[in-house]
Amino acid sequence: MQQNIINTRDLEFQLFELHQVDDFLKYDRYADHNRETLQAALDLALKVAAEEFAPHARLVDEEEPTFENGRVVMRPEVKKALDVLRETGLLAASQDYERGGMQLPSAVGQMCVGLLKGANVGTQAYAGLTIAAANLILTQGSEEQKTRYAEPMLSGRFFGTMCLTEPHSGSSLGDLRTRAEPAGDGSYRLKGNKIFISAGDHELSDNIVHMVLARLPDAPPGVKGISLFIVPKYLVNEDGSLGKRNDVALAGLIHKMGYRGTTSTMLNFGEKAGAVGYLVGEPHNGLAAMFHMMNEARIGVGLGSVMLGYTGYLHALEYARERRQGRPVGNKDPQSPQVPLIEHADIRRMLLTMKTYVEGGLSLALQGARLVDEKKVAQSDEEREMAAGLLDLLTPLIKSWPSQFCLEANSLAIQVHGGYGYTREYPVEQFYRDNRLNPIHEGTHGIQGMDLLGRKVSMAGGRYYQELLRRIAATVDEAGNNPKLADNARRLTDTVEALKEATDRIQAVKQEGQVERALANASLYLEAFGHTVVGWLWLRQALAAAKGLSGGGPQPAAFYQGKLKACDFFSRYELPRVKGLTQLLREVDATALEMEAEGF
Ligand SMILES: Cc1cc2nc3c(=O)[nH]c(=O)nc-3n(C[C@H](O)[C@H](O)[C@H](O)COP(=O)(O)OP(=O)(O)OC[C@H]3O[C@@H](n4cnc5c(N)ncnc54)[C@H](O)[C@@H]3O)c2cc1C
Repeated sequence: MQQNIINTRDLEFQLFELHQVDDFLKYDRYADHNRETLQAALDLALKVAAEEFAPHARLVDEEEPTFENGRVVMRPEVKKALDVLRETGLLAASQDYERGGMQLPSAVGQMCVGLLKGANVGTQAYAGLTIAAANLILTQGSEEQKTRYAEPMLSGRFFGTMCLTEPHSGSSLGDLRTRAEPAGDGSYRLKGNKIFISAGDHELSDNIVHMVLARLPDAPPGVKGISLFIVPKYLVNEDGSLGKRNDVALAGLIHKMGYRGTTSTMLNFGEKAGAVGYLVGEPHNGLAAMFHMMNEARIGVGLGSVMLGYTGYLHALEYARERRQGRPVGNKDPQSPQVPLIEHADIRRMLLTMKTYVEGGLSLALQGARLVDEKKVAQSDEEREMAAGLLDLLTPLIKSWPSQFCLEANSLAIQVHGGYGYTREYPVEQFYRDNRLNPIHEGTHGIQGMDLLGRKVSMAGGRYYQELLRRIAATVDEAGNNPKLADNARRLTDTVEALKEATDRIQAVKQEGQVERALANASLYLEAFGHTVVGWLWLRQALAAAKGLSGGGPQPAAFYQGKLKACDFFSRYELPRVKGLTQLLREVDATALEMEAEGF
């Protein structure tokens, strides 16, 4: 539990006893790995997280980057930590060997990154964005673009950004205005303004490769007219050396409530002759290209939320064990010693809520990462298609459920600390501020809800949704045979039935043409769906714990007992929320939709 980043016993349980990541080791892609090499990568990531990232997390929050004489100035610890990360090779942990990667299974690779996020999300973001941008070039770019831009990014020589947002075009990307004119030599000249670009300028790497969405002159309106471009800060010569400065200017920095270690920039492209850019993939296909790799990026966002919630939970747990306050309700002796906070039922309730949110969220993110691996090693087209479809379906949940509930865990961590939690002397308030970004970026909560309900559930005639329900039913059947879990299995069945009814009803209203009404409560649907899926994963955790207890898994018994109790808690305290939500959803309630703007 170094620096309260993660409970390593839980990590081992989730990866190997629950998600059985070592199953993948039988495939050629992972033939060089064994349990020890996977563990070694995780140990290394945890060491770098604890020794290089965590110690300056507070410092970069207090001294955010500044803009001085046209340069971004920041704490030197950021570069030092990123240099160490670069040397470990962890930047490209899941990448192919030929691209300089370690070819780790996605769940382990994501987890290595997740540990860094839990330690210091502000510094980790520079690396995270670089890998996301490199992946985009690797999946969509030409061979030449892969060599010239993606490879130096994977080795950490260049860093990267994602430039989507414009001042008038955030959620509604179809309205973006940045223009790209052909220059006649195969390159383009871009002009436009981007806002909120994370890591948009700094001196942490030799170059910055911006992945920019823009419109070609003949672009159709809306999302079908957006193309993707590579726009480097410094042009890159054929031999890989750096050429002249491109026409990309830092217009200013944005000051935020959290994630302060990461520069948030306003970038002007083409203030002079136009920023030199190179088209990636097909014209007008930029948004689709971007979304192609979003699944993995969104697992990263979800896991980041989990890890911020997780560290908050561990800090609260430690505090609740140490801080003494009050006595048990039945004890009327004022001279008896005060008891640790953890002795109070209300504190235990909050700790259990946090535990079920963060450990449930971790299961959810790792389920997504497992599907990425299943897609990679699938032995038939059918298997590959099913893994990809399930991943598509679960992605809005993986991104958004932890952003809501692991943030709530951060709020509860403050509550457990009482007044001290509200001060800057303890780190829990920073975790809350940092995590507050996650329901906003990479597609807001509302947009994810509409994606789930408006598109994903009915995708391929509802095939993936039906398969998910089938898998949940199989777990329920298995748990139903265990007397200790039968009650939880029954509660999950009731929840699934309520969700199914609401889904059918909403789809019927949608088919009647009342789309706006059908989607009006999409965020609440996402919450209900997310709780159901996390309830399923808690039942699976309980099954794995029961197996560990009876079959002599790596103990201690108290750990497994804690998992069983947490499953009881989630089933009894949290699943009933779905009932309330689905009642409103089943009625396809239109109160919010019908409220007149003037009525507020
Ligand atoms: C710290 C930080 C880092 C960021 N990093 C990057 C980055 O690196 N690159 C990048 O390109 N962008 C980045 N962003 C931008 C981020 O992705 C946008 O802020 C986000 O997409 C929302 O856009 P917006 O801020 O314009 O809000 P808006 O789109 O104006 O949304 C405001 C509210 O309205 C809701 N809403 C909007 N449209 C609809 C609709 N049709 N139906 C229902 N509800 C709707 C939203 O859910 C939200 O609650 C970052 C933002 C922040 C704060």
